[in-house]
Amino acid sequence: MSQIPFIDLKAQYKALKPKIDARIMAVLEHGAYVNGPEVVELETKLAAFTGTKYALACASGTDALMVPLMALGIGQGDEVITTAFSFIATAETIVLAGATPVYIDIDPITYNMDPKKIEAAITSKTKAIMPVSLYGQMPDMDAINAIAKKHGLHVIEDTAQSFGAKYKGKRSGSMTIAAGTSFFPAKPLGCYGDGGAIFTNDDNLYKAMKEIREHGSETRYYHTRLGINGRLDTLQCAILLAKMERYEWEISARQKIAENFGKAFASIKAEGFSYPKVADGCESVWAQYTLTVRDRAGFQKRMTELGVPTSIHYPRIMPDQPWYKENLKSPQHDWSQSRWAAENVISIPMYPDMDEATQNKVIDGVKKALGV
Ligand SMILES: *Cc1c(COP(=O)(O)O)cnc(C)c1O
Repeated sequence: MSQIPFIDLKAQYKALKPKIDARIMAVLEHGAYVNGPEVVELETKLAAFTGTKYALACASGTDALMVPLMALGIGQGDEVITTAFSFIATAETIVLAGATPVYIDIDPITYNMDPKKIEAAITSKTKAIMPVSLYGQMPDMDAINAIAKKHGLHVIEDTAQSFGAKYKGKRSGSMTIAAGTSFFPAKPLGCYGDGGAIFTNDDNLYKAMKEIREHGSETRYYHTRLGINGRLDTLQCAILLAKMERYEWEISARQKIAENFGKAFASIKAEGFSYPKVADGCESVWAQYTLTVRDRAGFQKRMTELGVPTSIHYPRIMPDQPWYKENLKSPQHDWSQSRWAAENVISIPMYPDMDEATQNKVIDGVKKALGV
């Protein structure tokens, strides 16, 4: 059987080719490869889309999380509460900023941070909460923000997988003092290399983050802060501008595919099997479509034989990653739901250009691999 792609970025390029090519050519012609006009054009569009006052294009999602931490003065001796179950960049940025990640368990339905676990993890050193909107869906932001307000903590949303998602009508990235997203090619909105963006409504924080992104300077060769080279190059901004023209359509296409999958999987009664649920009031952008199965290794092998690729996001919780375990003094908490997820989750193909025949192949593959 012919192999289905896990993500089909070539189909997307084909659909947008004239726009993307024209945008790229324009940059090659004007020659402002760094800090060119497309950067501000993109930032204006991103902010308008997200419903924030400001957006700052960044070199990666990792930088887009680290810059807000640096600008908020979070570092040595501070603790940041985050989820145990995410891509490593979440914990990595907290450590790079100089602070200690304090991991809490997830809600096993949404795979996101369980707000009920936050207060028990707060200490005199806690400065911020970094929730992750995993697989494209935001966590219970009202609950998280209420706890943060009560304890005087900053909230920085990791929106690397949720650009465009909604919580009670508000876009991901718009409900916290700062948020960082990623435009890595496989993310819901991807560029053709590494990229990311920061969102904020705060004037002073915006100014500080903009300077940090540019080696800690407002004026060239005069450095008032410790900064990084966190800029996104003009070509990537140009590509994203072309891609944004179709992004609303892509979100609804992903949502329709998720709906089809959900309908097909609702009747499956295999032990240990679950398919994703979106919480009331939320809209997911479906960065991943992630199942749980019993005997994951066997399921994955059968899927491969059936020509349906799968991927595991993520096989190990962050506090159990070797370097993090050996070098950090993160307090132990109960991570049993996160561990359950790490052992049982498996993602199946999901991309906006997936046609109905391919969707049916994926559905049939899942049923066959489960033996139902
Ligand atoms: C991808 C990702 C990041 C990092 O983004 P990069 O652009 O790869 O640096 C951070 N957090 C999460 C949850 C991610 O999925």
